[in-house]
This record gives sequence, structure tokens and C-alpha cells, in this order.
Amino acid sequence: MTDIGETAMARLALLGLPQDDNSTFLRGPALAPPLIRQALVSPSANMFAETGTDLGVAGLWQDAGDLPLSGLSGQAAHDAIHDGVSAVLARGQAVISLGGDHSVTWPAVRAHAAHHPKLTILHLDAHPDLYDNMEDNRFSHASPFARIMESGCVDRLVQVGIRTLNDHQRAQVTRFGVDCHEMRHGVDIADIAISGPVYLTIDLDVLDPAFAPGVSHHEPGGLSVRDVLHIIQNFGRNSGSRKSDGWMIGGDLVELNPDRDLNGVTAMVASKILREMMARCLADCGDGAG
Ligand code: MN
Ligand code: MN
Repeated sequence: MTDIGETAMARLALLGLPQDDNSTFLRGPALAPPLIRQALVSPSANMFAETGTDLGVAGLWQDAGDLPLSGLSGQAAHDAIHDGVSAVLARGQAVISLGGDHSVTWPAVRAHAAHHPKLTILHLDAHPDLYDNMEDNRFSHASPFARIMESGCVDRLVQVGIRTLNDHQRAQVTRFGVDCHEMRHGVDIADIAISGPVYLTIDLDVLDPAFAPGVSHHEPGGLSVRDVLHIIQNFGRNSGSRKSDGWMIGGDLVELNPDRDLNGVTAMVASKILREMMARCLADCGDGAG
């Protein structure tokens, strides 16, 4: 591992959540966290985010390692993730979690919601992940946003990139009042008004499989890497003013499946996206907006 950027009380922590017991089609995402870290500090690129933040500066962020989730599933895994994320938040650090499959987001959001009332979730995904139940598992990676919306722990769910709605999930969108932006209508983040604290969750299959083959569910017709970077850099800047109306308080990056990757290209895409997420989160924390 690396010591770049690490000190005890950095404002931002990266936390690995190696969990894929709740995946429906393939396993593999539990292997992702160390590979995303490797790509992040690869000597093939520098540590600057496009927006100018040098993530190589010591003390800016900390690698908090991986939670020990091996052998845990169901409620036990949920509780371990919730408690692990809560412990980092309690030391005053923002958290970006590295999945793991998308089931990790329900416990991670529950932990964040305790610190941030009126939370908006900005969710980038090919799939709405709103199934009431998938394969008799309410913790499924196809269900985290059903659990989050049932709990009432967040104010608003904004979904972008969606292209797999069926009748059940359309009904769930209506039931929960989800602000669901389907891929078929195109994506212009400037048209989506977002304000207040934002938890940003990115499922890598929101990208077209041409850009990100290393995911379990290849769903053609998705976003480009540039589209996703643009969203990270610009969400919440509703008024056109420099100061954002919405600010990032934390998030996660999920569903990298190394078993499906080609030459590590998707891990490199994940690290590029992560670098911009880290910079946006650090910039927004620095504003004191939260
Ligand atoms: Mn997902
Ligand atoms: Mn997905």
C-alpha cells in the first residue's frame, strides 16, 4: 500500500467494503478495493484531479483500509458496514467507500444520514436498484434504494443514467417519489436542480460497457467517462454562480468486477472517477458548506 496523502486526521477517508454476497448474477466485486487503490496511485498518472486538487499532498486524505467482511452476509454484513462507516464519520472525517457490490450503499447511507439531515442521494446507475426483494434477499444489490426510501432517512433520491426499468421498478419510482432520469431522455446535469448535502453513489455500470467492461451487468447505451466526470464536477451548481447550491458530503464507488475487466482498464476508469469524487468532496468540505 501507499503512504501518499495519509495522516491520522485527514478530512477524507477511503474505506474498502469487500462484499459481494448480495450480488444476483456474478461474484467478483469483493476483489475490487485493492485494485482501485492500486490504479489510484499508479505511476502511469499523476495525483492531480482535473479541477486542480493535488491528492498527493500529505494529510489531505487517509486510506482507512478494508472492513473485514469476509464470511458476513445479510443483517450481519449490513451492521458491520454501518458500524464501520459510522466509526470513521464519528472521528470527523468524510468517507468515500470502495465497493463491493451496490448492497453496501444502504448501510453506508444509513450511517451518513445520522450525521446529515435533509440528505439528497445522487445515484448514477444503469439500474434503479429499487426491487422490493430480489431472489428472496431484501439486502440484494438490486434493492438498496428500496430500503433507503422505506426508511425515510433521506430527503430525496435523484437517479441518473437509468435504462432498465420494468413495471415493478416503475411502480417503485412512483411509490417513493424518486426523481428518476432515464438514459433515453439524455442527461444534462445542469437541468437537475440539486441543493443541500449530497451523498454521491456511482455504480460503474452507469457507463457504457465500451468504457467499462469490468462490471457484472453489461447494459449498453450508457454514459461516457467524460459524462460521469462532468456530473461529478458540476452537480448542484444550479444558479451558474461559482458557489454550489449542493455539496458532496460523502459517497461510494461500487460494482467494479475485476473478473470481467480487460487489461485493468475499468480499474483505471474507477480510479479516474474516484480522483474527481475525492477532489469534489474535499473542495465542498473546505467550503464549510456542510
Ligand atoms: Mn447498482
Ligand atoms: Mn447497476
